[in-house]
Amino acid sequence: CGIVGYTGFQDAYDIVINGLRRLEYRGYDSAGIVLENETNSFSVEKTKGKVDDLVNIASNLKGTAKIGMGHTRWATHGVPSDRNSHPHVSNNGKVAIVHNGIIENYDTIKTMLTEKGFSFKSETDTEVLVNLIQYFTDLNSETDFPTAVRYALNEVYGAYAITVMHEDYPGILVVARLGSPLAIGIGEKEYFIASDASPFVEFTKEAIYLEEGHMATISLEGGVDIRTITDNSKIIPEIQELKL
Ligand code: GLU
Repeated sequence: CGIVGYTGFQDAYDIVINGLRRLEYRGYDSAGIVLENETNSFSVEKTKGKVDDLVNIASNLKGTAKIGMGHTRWATHGVPSDRNSHPHVSNNGKVAIVHNGIIENYDTIKTMLTEKGFSFKSETDTEVLVNLIQYFTDLNSETDFPTAVRYALNEVYGAYAITVMHEDYPGILVVARLGSPLAIGIGEKEYFIASDASPFVEFTKEAIYLEEGHMATISLEGGVDIRTITDNSKIIPEIQELKL
């Protein structure tokens, strides 16, 4: 299973698809991609099967976006199917997530969200998390997108590496890690996200390995802002020089 994300000047489709291929060795049963085009709307394609199967349905997205993310899934909650594949999008269509890992208490949260009027299209734990993020953005208009992700993560336990995008916050990728790896590649006017450095090592040798319990808000304008998930303390990251 794997995660790839990108924001920069290159074609996000190419970076994500080629990156997912680099992560295929990790094993997976489904693959998907979400791109945010110049008018700030999402295009999502996902399928059970291989990255080649994804390319068959998603190649029309080539050249449409400079920011996006992709996923290869190793199913834990819900059978391998198109519907259970990632990315998952929240009820209002604005929040998209890719996730590796397990949200242990998804059932309790799903019940709470269902009572609040949320509905679910998949059997995954992941779709519960993306709707919990939307729930926190809806709850208080002063809660911005990265803060909503942080609030949601403080309600879940389990293991995760996630990347999240919000249509109303164009150009921003929010990532977090607890128990599953996530690396951030620092390029010249571009940033990469991946489960390991192999998808971006051809573009940059500088990387930050996100540490346990940390999250980062990444954008071309704001750079990489790393915080602790529990109390939002600012972290000064250690930038590693890759020797690959
Ligand atoms: N638990 C999630 C699911 O079953 C993510 C699995 C993964 O790590 O790929 O959809």
